[in-house]
Amino acid sequence: MRATQAIIHHENFLYNIRQITAKLSGKTQLCIPVKADAYGHGAVSIAKTAVEAGITHLAVATVREGLELRDAGISCHILLFSPPDAGDADIIIKHDLEPFVTGTKLAGRLATAAKNAGKTANVHIKIDTGMGRLGCSPDDAAEVARAVCEGGNLSLAGTATHLAVSDSPDEADRAYTDEQLDRFDDALSRIRELGINPGLVHAANSGGILLHPRAHYDMVRPGILCYGYVPDERLNGILPLKPVMELRTGIIEKHAMKAGETVSYGRAWKADRDTVIAVIPAGYADGLPRKLSPGLTVWINGASYPVVGRICMDLCMVDLGPGTDIPVGTEVSVFGPEPNPVSAGDLAKILETIPYEITCGIGKRVPRVPA
Ligand SMILES: *Cc1c(COP(=O)(O)O)cnc(C)c1O
Repeated sequence: MRATQAIIHHENFLYNIRQITAKLSGKTQLCIPVKADAYGHGAVSIAKTAVEAGITHLAVATVREGLELRDAGISCHILLFSPPDAGDADIIIKHDLEPFVTGTKLAGRLATAAKNAGKTANVHIKIDTGMGRLGCSPDDAAEVARAVCEGGNLSLAGTATHLAVSDSPDEADRAYTDEQLDRFDDALSRIRELGINPGLVHAANSGGILLHPRAHYDMVRPGILCYGYVPDERLNGILPLKPVMELRTGIIEKHAMKAGETVSYGRAWKADRDTVIAVIPAGYADGLPRKLSPGLTVWINGASYPVVGRICMDLCMVDLGPGTDIPVGTEVSVFGPEPNPVSAGDLAKILETIPYEITCGIGKRVPRVPA
């Protein structure tokens, strides 16, 4: 079997959940996003671990992601973050997925589907308070709530908004988040004035949890924190977290090189001394973009070694240095929790992106294996 695997440290996932819970008041529940295959970690196994730990709400982006969880026997609440296609109402109702309703039209379609199925279906209203993405305007929220409650086949399980800059410690961004929450509170009052219970009120993503206690309400939606990273590196240290994914592989070949010889496509790296090069079976098709070299180091037997030359589709090369006694078959950790000092956050820094993109980008052909 190919040595490259994503080792999933479920014990670290549970540790992170405990850290998040400790930041919340006792009444605030967690809804854990497992969209995009649980940020690349494997949705079904992460969902099972979460449910076993007492989590009652999960969230996905697409109907198909929701069905994958239902097929695996996950029976807790599953929120559906992205708007469903017009034709998906029946399947959403059939499998008890809980969509975000952003307008009266969608509410009508879902109500009809629920009526046809002889059910009362849970939905959440999504209000756009300043993300500029999905949701009804705060002014329309009460009308949407009324549409949901009319007819009796939908139940308003929750009311939500999403924060655009909750992970930024800048004054102006903190003020913007407060404005978003003011608009949200205002819309909630107008829903309540109609005598409608908004259900579980939720707004906070990972940034909101860390920086805006006011945004915690009844439920929070921590994604990246659960997987071991802060949403913005300026927030490092606020909460102790442990990366959940480790990308692990092994040395498959080793060869001596003379000073002046070159490695890989484009001959972009030249040995400046006699050395030994190891080949590892992980490349850009596995989620290691070419831009990581030079810059990336890997962890072998407690020491860091540089990846050298261009990263290929399926392979990359590591400079072990002269006179190495590291044998073929030795385990290599590309990134992960300690003891590897390199995490997906460090890869993100090299690539000028965020850790989300690193774990989500680990290739489909890399098996996810519980630690
Ligand atoms: C993905 C997502 C989250 C989680 O965001 P993090 O930054 O990973 O905490 C929360 N809410 C919604 C609506 C999302 O789409």
